[in-house]
Amino acid sequence: MCTVWAPSGYYHLGNLKEGVTCRAIERELTNLGTKPRFILNIDDQDPFDRIPSDFMEYESKLSPYLEHPLNEVPDPFECHDSFAGHVIDDALSTMHNFDVKPEPTIMSEYYKKGSYDKYVKLFIEKKEEMYQLTEEITGSKMEDFFMIQCPECKNIAAPKTLNTEIDNNKIKVEIQCSLEDNGCGFHGNIVLGDTAWKLKWRLDWAARQDFFGVTVESSGKDHGVAGGSIDSSLAIHERIFGKTKLPLLIQHGFLTVGGRKASGSEGSGVPVSEYHKMLDPEIFLYLIYRHNLRSDFDFNVENDVPKVASEFTKAREVYIYGEGIDHQKSKEKTLKAFELALIDKNSIKNYVPIELGHLATLMQVFMFDQDKTYQKIIKQYSIEDNSLMKDIFNQYFNRTKYWLKNYADDNFKFTISEEINCEIVKQLEGEIYKNLLTAIQKLPDNLHGDEITQYLYQIAKENDIKATNFFRALYISVLSKKYGPRAGTLIESLGKEETLDLIKKAMECFE
Ligand SMILES: [Zn+2]
Ligand SMILES: [Zn+2]
Repeated sequence: MCTVWAPSGYYHLGNLKEGVTCRAIERELTNLGTKPRFILNIDDQDPFDRIPSDFMEYESKLSPYLEHPLNEVPDPFECHDSFAGHVIDDALSTMHNFDVKPEPTIMSEYYKKGSYDKYVKLFIEKKEEMYQLTEEITGSKMEDFFMIQCPECKNIAAPKTLNTEIDNNKIKVEIQCSLEDNGCGFHGNIVLGDTAWKLKWRLDWAARQDFFGVTVESSGKDHGVAGGSIDSSLAIHERIFGKTKLPLLIQHGFLTVGGRKASGSEGSGVPVSEYHKMLDPEIFLYLIYRHNLRSDFDFNVENDVPKVASEFTKAREVYIYGEGIDHQKSKEKTLKAFELALIDKNSIKNYVPIELGHLATLMQVFMFDQDKTYQKIIKQYSIEDNSLMKDIFNQYFNRTKYWLKNYADDNFKFTISEEINCEIVKQLEGEIYKNLLTAIQKLPDNLHGDEITQYLYQIAKENDIKATNFFRALYISVLSKKYGPRAGTLIESLGKEETLDLIKKAMECFE
C-alpha cells in the first residue's frame, strides 16, 4: 500500500490526512495478520513550479531555479542537500509526531537505478495503444510520455519532445527547450537518462504501482473524477501491462483549514508542524478517523480545538465504560475511530477527564499558574495525585497554553478585570447587576459547572431579565467584556467571593 507526495513545499494538513488515512489501513491489515508495507512515494523530481509563500523571504535565492527538479533546487537554509531534502525532513518528522511511519521512497533514486526503463520503453512501443487509451479516458491524446530536463538551462518543464527513438537499448530524444515556457531555446538530441527525466504523472503512477506491487493506494478524491488519474492508471494496468488483478485505488475526502484547502506551494496558514504542540496527536488522529473516508470536513484551529478534544474524551469514556452512545452504529464508529487513534494502548485509562474549554478557563483565571490549576483539578475531579497524573496534566496544560497564546479565537481568551470600566458597565441597567449579585450570594455550594449556568438561567427567567443580559453583566463585571467562557465554569474557577467582589465594584459605577 502506498501514497504519494511531492516535496514542493512544507507538508500540510491535507498531506497529513493522507498519511493518517494510510496509517489506519496499515493497522487494519496488520490486525488481519498480514505484514503490509506502507510506502510513501516522494516525487522529488517534479518541477519547482512556484515559490511557496513560506519561502518568500528567499525569493531571490530560489527564483533562478524555478521549473528545475525539486531535488536540484538549493536549500535556502543550507542545512540539506536540496530544497526537496529540507521539506522531506520536515515532513517525516511531522509524520512521526502523529505516529505515521511510512517507508519513504525517493523517486529520483528509482529513476536513476532504472526501475522505470522498461515502462518507458513499453509506452513508446505501444504508443498507438497509449494514444487511444488516453484519448478515450481523458478526451485528449497524450503527446509526450515524459518530462525531460534541458541539459543547458536545467529546466524540466520547458523541453518539448520532438522525436523519440529506441536505438540499441537507449532512448534517443530530440528536444526543443521552449522559450515560451521560460526555457532557453536549446534544440538537440539527448539520451534519456543523461539528464533528469520523469514519466508524466498518470504513467509514472501506474508504473510505480506495478514495480512496487502496490495492492492498495489512497489518494484525494480529485484523482477519482471521471477521466481522472485513477481511471487512467487502472486502464494502463489492464490494457498496457496486461494485468487482470488491479490495485485497489481508494479515494479520500479533503480536510480544509478554516474553509481553505491546504496547499504545499501556497502554504496553509498554520504549519502542520505546529499541530502536535497544541493538540494531543491522538486527538488529531481521532478527528480524522471519526469522519467517513470520503467526506470533506473542515478544521478551524481558532475555534475547533476544545470541541475535538472533548469529543475524544467522550469517545474514551464510551470505550472504557461502554455507555454514552445509544445508537449502535454510531457507537461502533466512535469506538473504531478511538481504537485506531490510540498511539499507546496502555494509556487508555491515563487521562485528565477535564474538558479543554474548562481547563482553558481555569488556566486563565489562575493566570497560567500550573500548580494552582493542577491542585484545583485534582480536587474538583477527585483525581489521585501521583506523578503519572501530574505528567499527563502537564502535557495537557502546555498544549492548551500553546493554543491559547498562539491560535485560539479571542472568544476563548480573557483576563480578570483589574479595573472596572464604567462606560461598559453602564450599557446595562443597574437592576441587572443587583439581581446578579443576589443570585450569586444565594448560589448553593453543591452546584458545579453547567449546573451553575442553569441556575443563573433560572434566576434570570424568574426576574424577567433577558438571559443574554444577565450573563453579559457577569462578563462585564469579571472580564470587562461582553462575552466569555461558560458562566458556571468561570464562577466556579474564580470562586464565589471574588466574583461577588467584582460585581460589587461594577455596581459602584451607579452610585
Ligand atoms: Zn535544510
Ligand atoms: Zn533549456
